[in-house]
Amino acid sequence: MPDQPATQQPATQQPATQRPATRAITAGRGHSGRSLAPALWASSVWQSTDMHDARRRATGVRSGEFYGRYANPTVASFEEAVAALEGAESSLAFASGMGAISTVVLALCGQGSHIVAQRQLYSATLAFLQGPCARFGIEVTFVDGTQPGAFAAAIQPGRTMLAIAETPSNPLLELVDLDEIGALRGPITMVDSTFATPLGQQPLAHGVHRSLHSATKGIAGHNDATLGVVSGERDLLNEIWGYHVLHGATPSPFDALNALRGMRTLAVRTAHQSASALRLAAELQAHPSVAAVHYPGLRTHPQHELAKRQMHHFGTVLAIDLAGGRAAAEHLLSSVQLVRVATSLGGPETLVCHPCTTTHASLTDAEAAEQGVTPGLLRISVGLEDADDLLADLLQALA
Ligand SMILES: *Cc1c(COP(=O)(O)O)cnc(C)c1O
Repeated sequence: MPDQPATQQPATQQPATQRPATRAITAGRGHSGRSLAPALWASSVWQSTDMHDARRRATGVRSGEFYGRYANPTVASFEEAVAALEGAESSLAFASGMGAISTVVLALCGQGSHIVAQRQLYSATLAFLQGPCARFGIEVTFVDGTQPGAFAAAIQPGRTMLAIAETPSNPLLELVDLDEIGALRGPITMVDSTFATPLGQQPLAHGVHRSLHSATKGIAGHNDATLGVVSGERDLLNEIWGYHVLHGATPSPFDALNALRGMRTLAVRTAHQSASALRLAAELQAHPSVAAVHYPGLRTHPQHELAKRQMHHFGTVLAIDLAGGRAAAEHLLSSVQLVRVATSLGGPETLVCHPCTTTHASLTDAEAAEQGVTPGLLRISVGLEDADDLLADLLQALA
């Protein structure tokens, strides 16, 4: 045990000069005493010394050591680590990426509110904005996020509460110009930055109010945690926390522990995985069975210049469109041996999924076509295996 109450120790200060890979190692150590590994606080409840102490904890903002839904020291360590990487004043963690998205929307919007969101969205985000939001009287205008000026043109002054972008987007790796989102006036702006990881891009540095991650993906990075996190200015996060306590999408301290451990290696993992993704993208682009490769790191990607401007690496996910359509996709899924058929990203194992029959299965053929989710489209999340082995497996499965 630490020789002082661990949660009362000040958070580790990161000198502003530390580079992101260093911050990933030094950050989030404020609640673990002298232990190098993060301490797991599995407790859901803490005792108070007297009535005044209990009142202080019950009424404080993001008060710790009171009740699990309010705050947890292991979760707080994770939040501090993400804030350090995002260059944020503060971060707030949730039970999942969707827990983060739904809580933010419902915390900031009510009946009659208006949201502008891009059409190119993670399928559950899209379903949430189309289903429950409509039911609660929240109107959403969908725009093409790749079109310059599309967000600004859809804003209704005084009514638009929130602008939601996702870059790179699922599953086609389309980009939104972060400077443009940061320059929007009126709504709170939020960018789902999951596909980039906090080391791939920093939306807050472009003036965006909120950066959001499904930490289930690259941040935790080992397929052993379900977690979401939102970062930005402290006051607005405190406001969201007020609703978060009622909404109850509370992160598990076990998952926060796994995510903190995963974050220590985020820099080396993303560097290796992005390099492999670029290599696979380039090799597959030359293959006769592949009609198109979507990867922002390719010079042929229509937004490659934007990618170079706003991303430090091009990400660990690519998509390929097979010339043979659905039959070819089916053949590849049953032929891969090293690459696994699964629907997630950012972990050590390379995964392939067929959006048409999984993440986007609820769309009609026409809707899927409009979104570019063609029958031959496969999304590949590149893992930590040797790129030569991955390439060999994909080439034999394409044969
Ligand atoms: C996975 C994902 C989400 C949802 O996160 P969960 O942790 O699964 O709830 C949201 N946005 C993007 C871009 C994702 O990849």
